[in-house]
Amino acid sequence: MMERTFVAIKPDGVQRGIIGEIISRFEKAGLKIVGMKMVWVDKGFAKKHYKDLVDKPFYKGLEQFIIEGPVVAIVIEGLHAIEIVRKIVGPTEPKQAQPGTIRGDYAHHSYEYADKKGIAIKNIIHASGNKKDAEYEVKLWFGLDEMHDYKTVHEKHVF
Ligand code: GDP
Ligand code: MG
Repeated sequence: MMERTFVAIKPDGVQRGIIGEIISRFEKAGLKIVGMKMVWVDKGFAKKHYKDLVDKPFYKGLEQFIIEGPVVAIVIEGLHAIEIVRKIVGPTEPKQAQPGTIRGDYAHHSYEYADKKGIAIKNIIHASGNKKDAEYEVKLWFGLDEMHDYKTVHEKHVF
C-alpha cells in the first residue's frame, strides 16, 4: 500500500509561477515529498519518459512542450500514492477536469483546441498513471542518492 510515484510540474506550471501552490496540495493531503529537483530535459530524455506515446500523432507537440523550459521533478510517497496523486491532479483534459483538481483549477485547455493547433494539451503537471509507470519513471528521473528517508509529523496521525 505504501507507494512512491513520480510527478513533474510541466513547463507551463513553472512559467505560470504556481510551483508552490501545486506542491502545497500534495503536502496538505499528508503525502511526503522524498525527492525534488528542477530539470530541463532534452528530446532524448523526453522519448524515454514518454516511451509509450512516441508513435501518437500528438507526440511531436508533446516533445516540444516538455522540453520548452525547466520542469520540477518530484517523488511523492504515501499510502496509495499513485492513485491519490492522480486524483489530486485530475484527468488529462483540463476542460473535463473538475474544480478542486490541479488541472481543473489552473488550466482550461481542450483536446479539440490542442489537436487543431498541433500542440500538446497544456495541463500543468504530469503524474505517473499506474504502478508500472511509477516504478519506471521514479528510476528514470531519480538516483537512489537523490531520494530521502525521513519522518513527517503526519506519520504520527495517519499511520
Ligand atoms: P496523462 O497521463 O494524463 O498526462 O496523459 P497521457 O499519458 O495520455 O499523455 C501525456 C500527455 O500528452 C498529456 O498530459 C497531454 O499533455 C498530452 N496529450 C495526451 N493526449 C493528447 C491528445 O489526444 N492530444 C494532444 N494534443 N495532447 C495529448
Ligand atoms: Mg500518462
